[in-house]
Amino acid sequence: MYAARHAKAKPVAKPTVTEIAPGKAITPHGVITAPYVVRATEAYTGTIHGLRRTVAPIYSLAIATEPLPDEVWAELNLATRPAFNDLRHVRVWGQRTATGRIVFGGRGAPYHFGSLIRARYDTHEHIHQGLQQALIDLFPQLSTVRVTHKWGGPVAIPRDWHPSVGLDHASGLAWTGPYVGDGVATSNLAGRIIRDLILERDTDLTTLPITNHRSPKWEPEPIRWIGINAGIRVMGSADRSEARHARPSRRARMFGKLIGGH
Ligand SMILES: Cc1cc2nc3c(=O)[nH]c(=O)nc-3n(C[C@H](O)[C@H](O)[C@H](O)COP(=O)(O)OP(=O)(O)OC[C@H]3O[C@@H](n4cnc5c(N)ncnc54)[C@H](O)[C@@H]3O)c2cc1C
Repeated sequence: MYAARHAKAKPVAKPTVTEIAPGKAITPHGVITAPYVVRATEAYTGTIHGLRRTVAPIYSLAIATEPLPDEVWAELNLATRPAFNDLRHVRVWGQRTATGRIVFGGRGAPYHFGSLIRARYDTHEHIHQGLQQALIDLFPQLSTVRVTHKWGGPVAIPRDWHPSVGLDHASGLAWTGPYVGDGVATSNLAGRIIRDLILERDTDLTTLPITNHRSPKWEPEPIRWIGINAGIRVMGSADRSEARHARPSRRARMFGKLIGGH
């Protein structure tokens, strides 16, 4: 959360904003006032009053292997450090780290009722094992490699799966994200877009499709919980079916249309 100048509250170690209103961010310790308030809370957006249905925090999980020798990297055809994924419905992705490990991640962990976020949800034994198996399926050479790290966290998914960044000039309220799970580079881009919007500059960035895009709200619970977890299951089973039959899954196409995703 960035709420800029003219801070009236005393600095606190971790100022949790409970509510945002034009010109102010409200915390249990005091109110911070600023001409513009930029919300950059990503998966945690729903913890702020009135924003519970803005994004769904969906967990993304990852594993890392022990460092691999150069010969293995050459054999995997990944010596030049490309990032990769294979476009299955329940996404997986991987890349080489600076220390020569392979980091491999994916979705599939359950959505928690009420968009709850807890540290204990960052790991999920079944999903982490599934990731290791998916890695071995892609690269059988790694079947005996040790997995040394497992972790995860929530990413912010809007109802239409469309990233956005924007500013309402009338209220001074701005938002950077959600990034739909791809925020490392996009958050940098969003920072530059929000700069241009606040300074009222017309640039190439302020006409991008993500600029001032507004996503619809998620459904209230329990529909949200039922829909998202059904989606995760349907897409997982579609992946298994496509792997077996080598043709696009009809259930994935139908469900994709229903949830407005891709
Ligand atoms: C396992 C995993 C793998 C990922 N891999 C990739 C990848 O390969 N490529 C990629 O592009 N993206 C990836 N992502 C997503 C990426 O990490 C995020 O999109 C990115 O970190 C978002 O950055 P951010 O600064 O917007 O939000 P965050 O880093 O989530 O920061 C949000 C900040 O807001 C603060 N905050 C939240 N609520 C409040 C509040 N109420 N009051 C005050 N402060 C608050 C938090 O303390 C935090 O500092 C991955 C995510 C996970 C979990």
